[in-house]
Amino acid sequence: MLVNMKEMLADAAKNNYAVGGFNCSSLESGMAAVRASEETGMPFVLQFAPVHEQYLAMSVAGPLMLQLARAAKTPVAVHLDHGSSVEVCLRALAMGFTSVMFDGSALSYEDNKAATAAVAKTAHALGATIEAELGSMPHNYNGELGNYAPEDFYTKPEDAAEFAGDTGVDALAISFGTVHGIYKTTPKLSFDVIKKVRAATNGLPLVMHGGSGLTDADYREAVSCGIRKVNYYTYGAIAGGRGVYDLVKEKPEGLQFHDIAVRATKAIADDAARVMRVLAGKI
Ligand SMILES: [Zn+2]
Repeated sequence: MLVNMKEMLADAAKNNYAVGGFNCSSLESGMAAVRASEETGMPFVLQFAPVHEQYLAMSVAGPLMLQLARAAKTPVAVHLDHGSSVEVCLRALAMGFTSVMFDGSALSYEDNKAATAAVAKTAHALGATIEAELGSMPHNYNGELGNYAPEDFYTKPEDAAEFAGDTGVDALAISFGTVHGIYKTTPKLSFDVIKKVRAATNGLPLVMHGGSGLTDADYREAVSCGIRKVNYYTYGAIAGGRGVYDLVKEKPEGLQFHDIAVRATKAIADDAARVMRVLAGKI
């Protein structure tokens, strides 16, 4: 069923678990996430990242995701991931997305706050929820931070408290040492940052981006400290690729494309179900 993130995140906080945020970059990845959710009974966030426009246009992904959510037996929020402009957030809300992320992390603190507050007002008027980001998450650094130390990127608890109060966001993505994509070095996570931001924001649901490639123990610790949503994409996409590779080895001749789509969907769904169980504390 189609929902926004409000009750989903409140229930996660009450029962100390996190929901997954799974990106829909193809019909198969969207179907796989729904299958994993129905198999595990876990609600989740089906999200579209504009960076994936090259694989699937948002104009097609939006109606597809909304239909997948409506038809699902479990609660599914349809969310825009990393909306980098107010305009793209408003476009998603107009399409019926039940949630948006405005990512102003590259802006100055004041500009991020003002734009986030504007999007939050519209989102709430439409019954949708909003996630924002504070503290910069290294993009495309692949774990190599150059001259920076991991703590240079951490979210400051005092900023988070003011930002949350002034914008009214429903969830906040914070920076505590994760990076997007594939980790080339062992990530240095500061769980203390999560605890301090959680305390400073009176338990606002916190979001972890760059969820791929961490250990199960890292996930469990992050959840116990206050992470309520974990964005997960890269390793699921790799699981899909591996499933297809195995299929090609099993049947090098006469393979039909629908067989590839079916195998990829199963591999991504199996991986997503495992992640959902870890986030639920069931593994
Ligand atoms: Zn992200």
